[in-house]
Amino acid sequence: MKDANTISSICKDLILGDIANAKKQLLTEWPFEPSLNEPKRDTIPQWQQVELFLRDNFTCRYCGKHTIFIGTLRAVNALLPNDFPYHPHWKWNDTHPAFWELTASCDHLKPVARGGTNNIDNLVTACYKCNSIKTNWTLEELRWELHEPTNDSWDGLVGIFLQIMEQSKIQEKSLKSWYNLLKK
Ligand SMILES: [Zn+2]
Repeated sequence: MKDANTISSICKDLILGDIANAKKQLLTEWPFEPSLNEPKRDTIPQWQQVELFLRDNFTCRYCGKHTIFIGTLRAVNALLPNDFPYHPHWKWNDTHPAFWELTASCDHLKPVARGGTNNIDNLVTACYKCNSIKTNWTLEELRWELHEPTNDSWDGLVGIFLQIMEQSKIQEKSLKSWYNLLKK
């Protein structure tokens, strides 16, 4: 069991001057295991993100909530910029909380920092909030369980995104690129 007691027990050895035993305990109970290679943070291509979201029915696999495609939220922002603000770096004061609560994102079950890959088997859909909490932890460490995708036809409002793009005059480059990808 790795917890405060582990460190407390190691400290007791250190107080007794028993460095060897402290070290032995540390190495058996809670060894430091840096990943062998510098983690590679390749961005996941847009088509692969869409494939993943569709596999998971746009469900956050961590909290079980319906998530929304980023393009739809960005399109709402493009049409209601002051009331539904969005900052490209997600600055807290300039971004509507719906982005954090509902945007679908790709997350690595086994974190990249700990050797996880971009293989689809290691990827799950997560809302931004869960994604930002999970960061470099494993499910076991957070005591989280993986939710199954919802058993409905939730599409993350992708259909609505296509409709908005067809009916509005949004010219934003990244939104048009999402549109062209999804239209296929
Ligand atoms: Zn979530």
